[in-house]
Amino acid sequence: MSLFDATMRPMILAAARNDRIRQTSQRTAMTRRVVERFVPGETQTDVLAATRTSLDAGMSVSIDFLGEDTTDESQATGTVDAYLALVGAMADIPETGLPAGRLEVSLKLTALGQALPRHGAKIAEENARTIAAAAHDAGVLVTVDAEDHASADERLMIVRALRRDFRDVGTVLQAYLRRTEDDCTEFAESGARIRLCKGAYAESPSVAYPTRELIDEAYLRCLRILMKGNGYPMVASHDPVIIDAAQAMADEFERTPDSWEHQMLYGIRTDEQQRLTAAGRRVRVYIPYGGEWYGYLVRRLAEKPANLGFFLRALAS
Ligand code: FAD
Repeated sequence: MSLFDATMRPMILAAARNDRIRQTSQRTAMTRRVVERFVPGETQTDVLAATRTSLDAGMSVSIDFLGEDTTDESQATGTVDAYLALVGAMADIPETGLPAGRLEVSLKLTALGQALPRHGAKIAEENARTIAAAAHDAGVLVTVDAEDHASADERLMIVRALRRDFRDVGTVLQAYLRRTEDDCTEFAESGARIRLCKGAYAESPSVAYPTRELIDEAYLRCLRILMKGNGYPMVASHDPVIIDAAQAMADEFERTPDSWEHQMLYGIRTDEQQRLTAAGRRVRVYIPYGGEWYGYLVRRLAEKPANLGFFLRALAS
């Protein structure tokens, strides 16, 4: 394990949960320069402009209204309202003549109330259902993001319930969790849209593979299950080895180009997003927006040592 993975990464991820650091960072103008690299802006207008750019470049999008760890019900209701307004605005995006399913929203159940002490799961499910119904009417897809391991069972239960009414609701599975091969088998059999990522939270080795090598191997095992299955695999990775392996597996299982897709984050490996699109692959860009960007930013910083340098240089300038 590298020194960065063993020491810096857990420290940076711990900062994601530190309120004092969050408040200080959100007030600092310098931090905003770093944020802009990963988040196009705080308003719906900002995210729709970024969406337009991606659509014009032939890509699909998934929009995330930033927020997590909601502590009161009115905050969760505010998040629902933001998604309803967003989905309404997405329905008005002019038809571009490209395949259906290009517009998607990504939700975090903790932003919808999952962690509230009383009836959190029930509130989050009802809120997610309200958004899924509006998205369904607007022709917008929905994917439920994966958060920390402790919330996974409840999240997947809610996703199964949502899929009984809205078959297109997808979710994220994190290859670093030891449980994920079994989850892939279940969701691949049921024909679900599954976004497979490596995983971005600090997890204990009792539940997650501890090294990059083991995580990469697990990713490829999980991807094989999804590619072989009946669902729609969404390969959420910027890693060149994974990107090449995905195409090789798609060929092996005789998947057509419209039966799976690549996904990457806004601001990361933009050239590669364009290269894959030009090569005829489906590419979806995950675009976050909103004022609650702190947790998202910290997870991006923890993914790559160079990002931390970029952040520190911005603070020093
Ligand atoms: P890595 O091995 O980490 O990186 C490979 C290469 O990609 C790096 O060498 C670098 O060139 C580039 N790269 C990767 N990350 C960065 C970065 N931050 N900045 C600059 N360059 C970078 N995680 C969750 O836990 N839950 C989710 O719901 C979730 N949703 C996601 C949705 C999408 C569309 C994507 C792409 C990722 C999502 N993630 C999520 C994050 C994911 O778990 C990883 O932490 C992240 O994608 C980095 O892993 P990687 O596979 O890209 O490969």
